[in-house]
Amino acid sequence: MRKKSTEGRRSFLKKGAFGLAGLAVLPSVLTRDSRAQTGEASAVTDTTRVAKKHALMTRTLGRTGLTLPILSIGAMTTDNPEVLKAALEAGIVHIDTAHAYQRGRNEEMIGEIVKGRPRDSFVIATKVSGPGDSRTGMFTKDATSEMFAERFETSLKRLGLDYVDILYIHDVVRKEAVTYEPFLSVLEKLKKEGKTRFIGVTTHGNEPEVIRAAVESKVHDVVLTAYNFRQPHIKEMDEAMAAAAKAGVGIVAMKTQAGIYWDRERKNPINMKAALKWVLRNENVHTAIPGMTTFDQLETNLSAVEEFSLTPEEKEDLKLGQRMGMLGLYCRQCGTCVSQCGRNLEIPTLMRSYMYVYGYRNLAAAKDAMETVALSRVPCDSCSTCSVNCPMGFDVKGRIQDVARIQNIPYDFVA
Ligand code: SF4
Ligand code: SF4
Repeated sequence: MRKKSTEGRRSFLKKGAFGLAGLAVLPSVLTRDSRAQTGEASAVTDTTRVAKKHALMTRTLGRTGLTLPILSIGAMTTDNPEVLKAALEAGIVHIDTAHAYQRGRNEEMIGEIVKGRPRDSFVIATKVSGPGDSRTGMFTKDATSEMFAERFETSLKRLGLDYVDILYIHDVVRKEAVTYEPFLSVLEKLKKEGKTRFIGVTTHGNEPEVIRAAVESKVHDVVLTAYNFRQPHIKEMDEAMAAAAKAGVGIVAMKTQAGIYWDRERKNPINMKAALKWVLRNENVHTAIPGMTTFDQLETNLSAVEEFSLTPEEKEDLKLGQRMGMLGLYCRQCGTCVSQCGRNLEIPTLMRSYMYVYGYRNLAAAKDAMETVALSRVPCDSCSTCSVNCPMGFDVKGRIQDVARIQNIPYDFVA
């Protein structure tokens, strides 16, 4: 009964959001995929359809020795526990979450799902971050070891676990941050205490530098990195990942499907199966964590791991944006724009929020990301022309003005 009334309230709030001034563009993203909100009967049907055991190929995650199916699940946007249960039933074992996802509800949901399962039947990775400075790519002085340890203890409680398998420093963009002493000392301590089996860093900007620094550190066991067919620096990525794999560092790939859509209007989806196959054909990727919100996405991803060679049609699909002049929603987070902007706006985070809104239809994640940015209500309005020249060709000003409107929506409308 309680669940029903909560759902009813959310539905009412979402309907109310249509009436908010300036939000005419958002109805399609406020209405989440119906499968993510299925009632119990259809969830059972979907679970039965998807959750048959798959013989998933495995690879070893570097020196951790963990043998993982090449398909894992990125749970950042997963809000339907039935999808996660179906993934586990299908043979996926590694679930990737973070302290910050869904303001803690993501870790709590995962804790409920793994409760009672044998501890060696699943692998949990989580991430903790601290406040950072976009100009330097470094953490600020508020990012202390005490803060990191406290956040991690909260994560363990939410997950209902004594330990996690991998604990990452979240969102690293500079080599100096890979060995940021306050975080590194606490990671090593937690590893010694058995609260995490392995440690690592995650990166979705300046990835080759971060991967190489993790190797040189000889401390990090795993790197979770963005990797997809849309990255303009694929050669550097491939070389850095090869060096890491050779040195025994485990490589986990994220952002594998590059924002899911080619266009803001969501009329041209990226061929998700082809994009995932493209990632997994690289043997230095030990496992991939595509985000999965729906049963359909889970099913598509499961079908991608049976055979990696791309068909001629799939190769053409991956060039669709190029052919049609569509720039896509994926921002490579290179940070080039930050110093070009007179107001030093944290543009990479804003572009990530834009992708969460129009690619993932996840306004809550977009709002969470945007709240880390000190943004005036009308960013960019005082600039007659934008001085930012994005190498991916984005209309940065237009995208910021577009996505900034979600600041006006209360969190309750989108959670
Ligand atoms: S908006 Fe463009 S310049 Fe800025 S981080 Fe993204 S890809 Fe790089
Ligand atoms: S329009 Fe926006 S992004 Fe461009 S320079 Fe001005 S404040 Fe920066």
